[in-house]
Amino acid sequence: MSESEERETVKSFNPASGDVNDEIEAATPAEVDEAVEAAREAQKSWASRSVEERLHVLDVFQDHLIRRREEVARTIASETGKPVGEGLVTDLIPVIDAVRFLKKRGPEVMETRLDLDNIMVMDRKSKIVREPLGVLGMITPWNYPFGIPGSQVIYALLAGNAVVLKPARETTLTGLKIEEILVDAGLPEDLLHVVPGGGSTVGQALIESDIDQMTFTGSNEVGEMIQEQCAERGVPTTMELGGSDPAVVLDDANLDNATSGIVWSRFMNCGQTCAAAKRAYAHDSVFDEFRDEVVRKVENLRVGNGAEENVDMGPLIDDGAVEEIERQVEESVEMGAEVLAGGERLDREGSFYAPTVLGNVTHDMPVIREETFGPVLPLMSFENEDEAVKKANDTRFGLTASVWTRDTDRGERVARRIEAGTVVINDHGYTYGINETPWGGFKDSGHGRTHGVWGIEEVTRMKHINKGSADTVPRSLRPETTWWFPYSDDYLETMGDGIEFLYGNGVVRRATKAPKMLKELIGRDKL
Ligand code: NAD
Repeated sequence: MSESEERETVKSFNPASGDVNDEIEAATPAEVDEAVEAAREAQKSWASRSVEERLHVLDVFQDHLIRRREEVARTIASETGKPVGEGLVTDLIPVIDAVRFLKKRGPEVMETRLDLDNIMVMDRKSKIVREPLGVLGMITPWNYPFGIPGSQVIYALLAGNAVVLKPARETTLTGLKIEEILVDAGLPEDLLHVVPGGGSTVGQALIESDIDQMTFTGSNEVGEMIQEQCAERGVPTTMELGGSDPAVVLDDANLDNATSGIVWSRFMNCGQTCAAAKRAYAHDSVFDEFRDEVVRKVENLRVGNGAEENVDMGPLIDDGAVEEIERQVEESVEMGAEVLAGGERLDREGSFYAPTVLGNVTHDMPVIREETFGPVLPLMSFENEDEAVKKANDTRFGLTASVWTRDTDRGERVARRIEAGTVVINDHGYTYGINETPWGGFKDSGHGRTHGVWGIEEVTRMKHINKGSADTVPRSLRPETTWWFPYSDDYLETMGDGIEFLYGNGVVRRATKAPKMLKELIGRDKL
């Protein structure tokens, strides 16, 4: 290795204490290429295994994960500072649940029979088989460092792909755990490579490598740059980007539940959740009560190192993230926002910012216009549903949203008007952990879907196979009226009658063509 190619190292820190967890050697760009090449070889025999054989490995992985859950959750807590129990719920369950879902639905999605109702093809059969794309590149963030890459890797493997994953450098140890546990569970060598390192070095090398698809989860700034480079090279992408989700509290909401749910969604993971309730709007008639209850619940949050007991909220990922929150809050306050709770960095070791509630907020403030990736909840009121919907949609993002009401039909009417990939009624953003449901956003929140049937579709290509007997003439039992050559003398008339019979309006009109069609199908000489 020449001096200019000197290997970087990645330091894993605990943001709650500043302690270094470990220092890991980063991959070099050449090693990224080698990983993709080795993965390509391994993928061929993996794809030739049956779905059930591939599921068996995932099943064993699920067992290992359940057994090693606390070790993994503690690794996550050591790199992010989040409460250990929260890591268990929000990082591990989505992955454990992904295996459950794939065992249940994977085989039928990978091969689906189609019902062909058209009598012209009644003697034929169709099926959809899903083929893997090959080697997938994945670049993932630190906020859910096990849940996001873990579930994406599981879907890709079920479908017969190989994966080269670059985890966020902040959470490299957690990323490496995914590989370690899968290999322990019997995943064949080279099918999954976790390549540690920085974005502009190792991430860039992965973008430029010979991958067949790129799944990126992270910020819009980086995602848009990766999207452009992949598009130039014809590499398809799935983009899971930022969010500024609204929570809309209608006048008939259960305010106790609404305030608890919104405070949990916003402050869980120290506000560093793509689908957190980043803005809350309550109806004028309940706004004061809603505001007071939110402030009371936020002031009761116990902030600390998530590795310790009785902590609700940990630190931000690093000091840079704290400075960004300070800027957004300070600029918003200068523009007239009122601090109702928190509003400043905490005077203690680690990257801590106080859980913050802002009132008197307007839509031109940074806490609304930008994605606020930290523990800040701006509150606003509205007069009627039209105003609530207008405010909810006044954003470049469209990841998820929530509507809080005792009348769930009314909630659905409002939900249908909100521009977001998921709208939850009477909860917020939790569906990432429910694998039957799709994950992905509208507008600048990205494109494509992970999870659910759509998550399998995203990492496969669809092949249609249509089968018929070698000895049957298609479309008719009477060879001279098939649409193969040569066309019969009465071809135009017969086909016209056929169209009337099959698709024409009105039973009587269709019935007049029935005897003729019967003759065509059964054969004149047999009647
Ligand atoms: P980020 O974009 O800074 O980093 C994400 C990944 O990209 C990391 O692995 C990073 O190393 C890599 N990267 C950075 N620069 C790169 C470059 N030049 N080339 C290649 N790779 C590069 O995002 P983050 O700070 O880790 O995560 C926070 C963001 O992710 C927020 O905007 C959040 O909303 C979003 N997010 C979205 C979802 C979703 O499902 N939509 C989920 C989680 C996080």
